[in-house]
Amino acid sequence: MTATPSHAAEADAAFDSIIIGDIVTSETVITGGFVAVRDGRIAAIGAGTPPAARAVSDHRGMLVLPGLVDGHMHTSSAMGWPGIEHATRSAAAGGVTTVVDMPYDVPKSVTDATIFREKVDVVNATSHVDVSLYGTITKQGGTGAIAGLADAGATSFKVSTYEYDAVRFPRIDHPEMERAFALIAETGLMVAVHNEDQELVERLSAAAVASGRTDPIMHCRTRPPLAENLANVTIFEMGLATGAHVHIAHSSLARGFDLAAIYRDLGMNASGEACIQYLCMTEDDIVRLGGRGKCNPPFRTAEEVERMWDRLAKGTVAYVSTDHAPWPADRKKDPDIFKCGAGLTGLQSFAPLMFSLLTERGLSPTVMARYCAEEPARFHGLLPKKGRIAIGADADFCVIEKGAFTFDEAMIVDRPECRWSPYHGRAMAGRVAATYLRGQAVWDGTAVLNKAGSGRFVPRQKKG
Ligand SMILES: [Zn+2]
Repeated sequence: MTATPSHAAEADAAFDSIIIGDIVTSETVITGGFVAVRDGRIAAIGAGTPPAARAVSDHRGMLVLPGLVDGHMHTSSAMGWPGIEHATRSAAAGGVTTVVDMPYDVPKSVTDATIFREKVDVVNATSHVDVSLYGTITKQGGTGAIAGLADAGATSFKVSTYEYDAVRFPRIDHPEMERAFALIAETGLMVAVHNEDQELVERLSAAAVASGRTDPIMHCRTRPPLAENLANVTIFEMGLATGAHVHIAHSSLARGFDLAAIYRDLGMNASGEACIQYLCMTEDDIVRLGGRGKCNPPFRTAEEVERMWDRLAKGTVAYVSTDHAPWPADRKKDPDIFKCGAGLTGLQSFAPLMFSLLTERGLSPTVMARYCAEEPARFHGLLPKKGRIAIGADADFCVIEKGAFTFDEAMIVDRPECRWSPYHGRAMAGRVAATYLRGQAVWDGTAVLNKAGSGRFVPRQKKG
């Protein structure tokens, strides 16, 4: 990257800066293009000789995508809100300029507007990229906080059919869920649901432990597709009954997207997202990786991965996210798979991996602009500010340098104990050469350039 003053045009430059490269939107690639920035926003897009500007960043030959929007990640489930700073550093290095953070924080979840505003203050004081926030409800009796969370700027709600922790990550029972969905429907916001059937998983897990089978593949065997499908049908029926927009927070199965399509045909607002790991990882990978390959839902078969790509091609996948959950590496090394934390790091590998998967499949990077930026921004109500290379949008960019690279977990800029990746050693077809946040370079391919606190909380731009 070069950011040099453009002397000939300095005096009366119309723009603050120009970024040169092959511009990738959801529709097309503008080869030899440019984007002009004024006051942190995109002010012009074109091809050929760029207009005058006070500074030029020349990424000729590289791809300039919209800054990625990760619609699903967890900064604060391991160490609480101090995790925001570290996770968003990793986002900046990964070309992710907006993250939508989950509410299941330590020691308390984001269950009312007061807590929400406290978290907003921490975001504005410590983050390196822009941050939007989910809200959630307490296990019982908390639905009265829903309207206040929406008013405070939550993009979306999150609830779970599966209990990881009775306080931090509770299972919401059916009567409470029905009440919550009805109230969420009034806000016009989406409710994303963690979709696993508790009874089935608990019974199968207990049987596995009792028989002495705690090796990695048993994580997959004790969370079979039926566990997801049962939960999916339940939450979609609840959506149909209440009018809420119900969204599968992560489908590891093509069936999840097929079910969403069926319920859409019934007139309901139903959707689901794929995390990137379900587009590439298989059961063989958890056997290879052990605890570092443990996430919920688990990896499926190679055939299922192909069905996932088929649904992405058909347009039934809402968007692609990471479900980034930066557990310290020592939470992932127990040989008993049931004792390892569930969740993968993924923010810094997101852009290079998605670009590589598309390249390996002969698909256009426009797919990445659409499903890793524009669509998550749409689902979380962040358009037209975020997610697109379009006039008036924030000048957020992810610059990809094409080439033969290897993902090395040592490059991760999160806190030291979280510098691990299930993609360590994977061949990549590109790397993130630069990241821009509201026109400012925040990553130059080597270092994060902005200070903690440069990122901003972004409220939902509009409801519904
Ligand atoms: Zn998650």
